[in-house]
Amino acid sequence: MQYIAPLAKVIEQFRRLPGIGSKTATRLAYHILEMEKDQVRSLAQAILEAKEKIGYCSICFNLTDSDPCQYCRDQGRDGSVVCVVEGPQDVAAMERTREYRGLYHVLHGALSPLDGVGPDELRFKELLMRLQKNNIKEVIMATNPDVEGEATAMYAAKLLRPMGIKVTRIAHGLPIGGELEYADEVTLSKALENRREMY
Ligand SMILES: [Zn+2]
Repeated sequence: MQYIAPLAKVIEQFRRLPGIGSKTATRLAYHILEMEKDQVRSLAQAILEAKEKIGYCSICFNLTDSDPCQYCRDQGRDGSVVCVVEGPQDVAAMERTREYRGLYHVLHGALSPLDGVGPDELRFKELLMRLQKNNIKEVIMATNPDVEGEATAMYAAKLLRPMGIKVTRIAHGLPIGGELEYADEVTLSKALENRREMY
């Protein structure tokens, strides 16, 4: 089916988003055309503003609209523990547990040699620098319980243990192959509580 050019352009943009197929993209595009102009402007502005105002924390690489981020700035948190996660969504998931009061480090992915993701593609160098500069006693590896997440945790343990840092792994009980961000608070709290030291 042929759409008039401006409409086709909107559909094409929606189609590029994760989880949105042709059908949904088309429905959203038609919906936008039915909306009030002010509403459409607010939507477009909110997206642009989020993109312009949000960046990475220069310490932990979480998403933030102020640098350092709210967690790195918080004097009430335990600066001797760093929880390493794959993505900013995982920080939000850990915060929802209300159990964790340490700091974070966001790797922005997990090791996946087949996809060309090695340590240099992740924020490992920055993690090492943080650990050298600060008095950090424990690193909790809270990467996803799948092949890539496990490989990433193992790599970190090998790298950090010679530095005299205790490296722990959140316990299983999280569904294997699952993702941290979708785990419920109770499961994630338990996984954190039952973390074990890595050797
Ligand atoms: Zn931060």
